[in-house]
Amino acid sequence: MSDLCLAIIIPCYNEEAVLPEMSKRIGALLSRMIGQGLVGSRSYALLVDDGSRDNTWSQIEALHTESPLFRGLKLSRNFGHQNAVLAGLHYADDADILISIDADLQDDPNAILQMVDKFKQGYDVVYGVRDDRSSDTWFKRRTALGFYRFLSIMGVESVYNHADYRLISRRVMDAFKDFTETNLYLRGMIPMVGFKPASVYYKREERYAGSSKYNVRKMLSFAWNGISSLSIRPLHFVTFCGFFVFILSILLTIYALVAYICFQTTPGWASTVIPIYFLGGIQLLCIGLIGEYVAKIYKEVKRRPRFIVESDLR
Ligand code: UDP
Ligand code: MG
Repeated sequence: MSDLCLAIIIPCYNEEAVLPEMSKRIGALLSRMIGQGLVGSRSYALLVDDGSRDNTWSQIEALHTESPLFRGLKLSRNFGHQNAVLAGLHYADDADILISIDADLQDDPNAILQMVDKFKQGYDVVYGVRDDRSSDTWFKRRTALGFYRFLSIMGVESVYNHADYRLISRRVMDAFKDFTETNLYLRGMIPMVGFKPASVYYKREERYAGSSKYNVRKMLSFAWNGISSLSIRPLHFVTFCGFFVFILSILLTIYALVAYICFQTTPGWASTVIPIYFLGGIQLLCIGLIGEYVAKIYKEVKRRPRFIVESDLR
C-alpha cells in the first residue's frame, strides 16, 4: 500500500456541461488507484472554480458533500486559466504529487497512471504530451506549430505539444513557490525549476461538452505573454534594428554629401518621405515593443495577488 497523497488540480470556468462526466471519470480513476494501492487514500481531486457564472460551483459543492475524493476552491472572480491552476497548486499543500489537467476531458485522464508510474521511477516532472492533434482544427494546429517554433527562436524552452497537463512532485512545487511573478506562463516556467523530467504521450480528444474558453484574442495574448515573460530577445532585436538603421543612415549621409559635392542634386520628394516613413515606422514599432515590457514591469512591481480565494472546501 502506498501512502502517497495525489492531488489532481482541475481549473473550471463555466464547465457545468462537462463536470458530471468529468467528475465521474476522475472519481472512478482515483478510487481505482487508491484501491490498487498505487496512491494513498488521502488522494483527491481539487476543482478550482475560476469565477464561473454558471452552476459550476454548486456542482462542486454537491460533489464534495457526496465524496471526500472531491475538494473545491472558489476564486473571487475570473483570474484566468494559469492563475486558477496556480491557486490549486498552492492550496494542495498536503499533496506529494500534483497533477494539473483541464476540465474538458480533452486530455486523457488515464495518462495519470503513466505519470504516477514515471514519478515512482524517480522523475520529478512529467509532461503530458499529445501525440495526435487530429481533433484540433487545421487553424489551431498550424498556429500552435508556428507558435512553438517562434518560441524556440525567441529562446524560450518549452516542450513541444505539451500544454498544462503535467505532474510535478512536492519538491518541484516547493521550489516553484519562489517564482513570484504576476505574468504567468506555467509551461515555460516549470522547466526552469529543473529536476529530472519525463514525458508521457496521449491522444488529445475533442472537448467533451461546452465551448472553448480561449478565443483567438485570448490565444494571441497568451502567446505574446509567454514570449515577453520569458524572453528578452525581442528587445535585443530592437537594439539590432536600431544599430542597422544607424549604419544605414551614416552610409546615406556620406552618399548625400558626395552627391552634393560632385553632382548637381535635384531635391526629390521620394528620397525625403521614404526615410521618414521608414524610420518613423521602425521607431514606433520599437517604442511599442519596449512599452510592452515596461507594461510588464508596471504589473510586476504592484505585486497584486495572483488569485483570491472566496471559499475553500476541504
Ligand atoms: N479555464 C479557466 N479560466 C479561464 C479559461 C479557462 O479556469 O479563464 C479552464 C477551463 O475550464 C478548462 C481549461 O482552463 O478546464 C482549458 O480551457 P479550454 O478547454 O477552454 O481551452 P482550450 O483547450 O480550448 O485551449
Ligand atoms: Mg480544452
